Amino acid sequence: MPSAEVILHQTHGIFANGQWHRIPDTRAVTDPATGNLVGTVAYAGKTEAALAVDAASQAFPDWAARTAEERALVLERWADLISAHREELAKVVTLEQGKPLAEALDEVDGAAKFAKWYAEEAKRVAGEVVPGSARNRRILIWRQPVGVCGLITPWNYPASMVTRKLSPALAAGCTVVLKPALQTPLSAVFLFRLLQEAGCPDGVANLVTGRAADIGEVFMQHPAVRKVSFTGSTEVGKLLIRQSADQVKRLSLELGGNAPLIVFPDADVEAAADGAIANKFENAGQMCNGINVMYVHEQVAAPFIERLAERVQALRVGHGLHPETQMGPLIDHAAVHHAHTLVEDAVRAGARVVTGGHQLTGERYERGSFYAPTVLTGITPHMRIAQEEIFGPVAPVVVFRDEDAVLKTVNATPYGLAAYVYTRDVRRVFEVAERLEFGMVAVNGTSLSVPQAPFGGIKESGEGREGGHFGIEEYLNIKYVSVTLGP
Ligand code: ADP
Repeated sequence: MPSAEVILHQTHGIFANGQWHRIPDTRAVTDPATGNLVGTVAYAGKTEAALAVDAASQAFPDWAARTAEERALVLERWADLISAHREELAKVVTLEQGKPLAEALDEVDGAAKFAKWYAEEAKRVAGEVVPGSARNRRILIWRQPVGVCGLITPWNYPASMVTRKLSPALAAGCTVVLKPALQTPLSAVFLFRLLQEAGCPDGVANLVTGRAADIGEVFMQHPAVRKVSFTGSTEVGKLLIRQSADQVKRLSLELGGNAPLIVFPDADVEAAADGAIANKFENAGQMCNGINVMYVHEQVAAPFIERLAERVQALRVGHGLHPETQMGPLIDHAAVHHAHTLVEDAVRAGARVVTGGHQLTGERYERGSFYAPTVLTGITPHMRIAQEEIFGPVAPVVVFRDEDAVLKTVNATPYGLAAYVYTRDVRRVFEVAERLEFGMVAVNGTSLSVPQAPFGGIKESGEGREGGHFGIEEYLNIKYVSVTLGP
């Protein structure tokens, strides 16, 4: 039975063809709140990645040929095992990623839900029969698994991103090689141990931790890999698009964002401020669909900022395993530096720090990468902080007057992942949601990722969707079969 103790403070190899293979080259995994060692994983490269792809390739015909029910059973058991180990897995998530344990538990529950949902969806993949163009002709449309998939996941949701990709892939009949982020590979190791226990056949799911660029190159150059699904930065996403051209690999990309929150004058201001905080400070602001900038109408700006500042000031920052903690550290010092650079730039350009605006120091924070929860006012849309993804616990507030102008401003970004709107006017709900150039719009709420809904962006935020029946389509090819019955 895997447990947190089996995962933490051990050295883990790569997982290929149902076996864990230790390799000499390893990397330490550290707790971003303390800098302490929490585990060690393989630092693999091209050879190991190719070994894993070969294993996935050999396992593919049998896995694809299994009944949907057989595949569903593995996913169902996986979901149950994740739920049964929720506390242990959440502890691993917190220790390697930093988020408060309560958030890690939510993430793990969400991770189990993706596995469960796609266990059900596996059984609903079907084809079509459409009328032929001649009396003796039949037209059949089949859906078939794409083949071997390379899956690349980020560090911010190290458990749920893994099941969000693996579950639809396995449900569809694909076999996979996962490359998790090197900062947070232990959650993936834990999930793979559970998947193994769930009865996943050898070679169907393989795990390679190591050099990102090398493993990514193997995914793109190995002819057996037919699809790559990636969640991460727009920069790496663009690189993968270029690399995918040679063999025309199918891609799903969930990239960066610049999500606006727009609070209209008719909004429930308290609900808007509370929703803003729940989203902005979740995971210390390290969420791709996290609110980047808050646009608040001048008529409600004062009460909104007051409530926001009051509640943000009260946020308790500390180690994620401490029961009082509401916000943990950022993933590393580079992330702190990035957030602070944007804050300093805004202040130089005339922004006012209402609360926060600095790195946290002192005994509790000394060895970790902590940044104070921050609220900035006096922000204008041309400032760097309004243009770039902050990915940290900083809430910049822009005060606006005109609906049309604010919509033009928020649409004038190369990104298009998520947008959040608070209004009680039903006309506005529809007109604004229709005009926002984003893949997802939340009205009077700030939570979006659920297994049954299509999560994803437009423009430079990526392509493809995760969740819902759309999510499984990403792992299926359409085959059109025309049968002529006779002369
Ligand atoms: P972030 O800046 O949030 O860390 P990245 O895009 O760098 O985002 O990382 C997301 C995932 O992509 C991680 O698993 C990372 O290891 C991986 N990655 C980074 N560079 C490459 C690359 N050149 N090829 C393939 N994967 C990469």
